[in-house]
Amino acid sequence: MTGQGKLYIRINQNDNVAIATGTQGLTAGFQMENGVVVKQAVPMGHKVALADIGKGKPIFRYGVPIGCAKSDLEAGEWVNETKMALIEPPDLDALPYPDLERMSPAALEGYTFEGYRNADGSTGTKNVLAITTSVQCVAGLAEHLAARITLELLPQFPNVDGVVAINHAYGCGIAMDTPLAEIPIRTLQNILKNPNFGNQVMILGLGCEKLRPEQLITEVLGPANQSIMYMQDTGLSGFGEMVARGMSIAGEHLKMLNGRKRETCAASELVVGMQCGGSDGLSGITGNPVAGYAADLVVRAGGSVMFSEVTEVRDAIHLLTARAADQQVRLSLIEQMKWYDDYLRCGQADRSANPTPGNRRGGLSNVVEKAMGSVVKSGTSAIVDVIPPGEKLKKRGLSFAATPASDFVCGTLQLAAGMNMHVFITGRGTPYGLSMVPVIKVSTNSMLSSRWHDLIDIDAGPVATGEKSVEEMGWKLFNYILEVASGREQVACDRLGLNNDLVLFNPGPIT
Ligand code: CA
Repeated sequence: MTGQGKLYIRINQNDNVAIATGTQGLTAGFQMENGVVVKQAVPMGHKVALADIGKGKPIFRYGVPIGCAKSDLEAGEWVNETKMALIEPPDLDALPYPDLERMSPAALEGYTFEGYRNADGSTGTKNVLAITTSVQCVAGLAEHLAARITLELLPQFPNVDGVVAINHAYGCGIAMDTPLAEIPIRTLQNILKNPNFGNQVMILGLGCEKLRPEQLITEVLGPANQSIMYMQDTGLSGFGEMVARGMSIAGEHLKMLNGRKRETCAASELVVGMQCGGSDGLSGITGNPVAGYAADLVVRAGGSVMFSEVTEVRDAIHLLTARAADQQVRLSLIEQMKWYDDYLRCGQADRSANPTPGNRRGGLSNVVEKAMGSVVKSGTSAIVDVIPPGEKLKKRGLSFAATPASDFVCGTLQLAAGMNMHVFITGRGTPYGLSMVPVIKVSTNSMLSSRWHDLIDIDAGPVATGEKSVEEMGWKLFNYILEVASGREQVACDRLGLNNDLVLFNPGPIT
């Protein structure tokens, strides 16, 4: 990445567009280094043509084509989505083979955080009582219990951070004998194993639902730690008794959780989920490279990183298959892309459904440009595994967790995969948060971080103007991850109590 001054950046020397990086964008009449004069105002994050680009010719950003000119473009012209045609995605049957000779970067030793060790070998960064539900019918009781427990019981258990109801729309009115049902079911099975829940399993069921609470428990996680309660239990008369039973069960779990203490853990216990949402034209220059740098540091420290969002990697899949650690990983990546291509086709949609209007206003003209910037947050490590939606992470290092790009669905699936830290990069600004896991919010531009001064944790904006390097900000993010994981720093959305609902990925039929 070569800097071209503070107001714009040409990311790769082959690019025929530059990106306006200053908060005011580029003004008409501004003379660029190569003598080209900007023809009209170009907003921050948007592209300006560095040379004449003939109709049908490729527009290069990141050194790769991101679209074709719909008509003749003049040097100095603002290049936005109205002037670009979409190009074909990489052919999944003609992707490069992995380079198995790749160098492995030096290991990082000595980095630690203060985490909660669990009996199953996982490590938590929070200490939370989760009330898992088998069906949406009981959501009201689950929320009622969470509120009452917080108010009446939590003060007696000072080591417990909070209580959350794992509510969702699944459990009944569904076809469970279809292969697609596996995804939401295994997601629920694995969410309750998230390391931040301390291997304590409390499930609330109705009684007549299709998805049995017993089906959600696939293994015993520890001694005396599992309980199931049904609202239709004939021994319970009225709501008051249901609440009393729930409070009593919760009390037992809280006792166990309260006994947990933070201990010094190697940074290799980190499981970081990377995600972006509300992206803009600077995401691929500032926020995502910074996240990618931090991802490499986590991997070098022996930890685990997941990146996701199938529709936002599809157009960059040739870059990812080339980083597959082995042939099996390469084939698994292709398999997940094909599955999603078919899934979109069934819904008569295609990848052009992404990006959003806000992405476009922020300078991301199409999904190809978005994808090229999006995959940067995976860093440069070899991809050691592919995690199908709802499954648990199996290997340390960098894994691709196949999920939709939807923030809540991706976050839910990364939670099921076992993340204990979440890094979320945004350019347009989203208050996204999860109560189960700390969500570090990284802004891609300083305009957002100054306007949302109490909602953003780390501003990667100074990278755009050259005030800070990606390396410097990457280290800052890595160190901040360790501080938050240790409970020494609190992220903005936890401080403000901003949390989104979990949303299961259910590609199967609803009856
Ligand atoms: Ca997303």
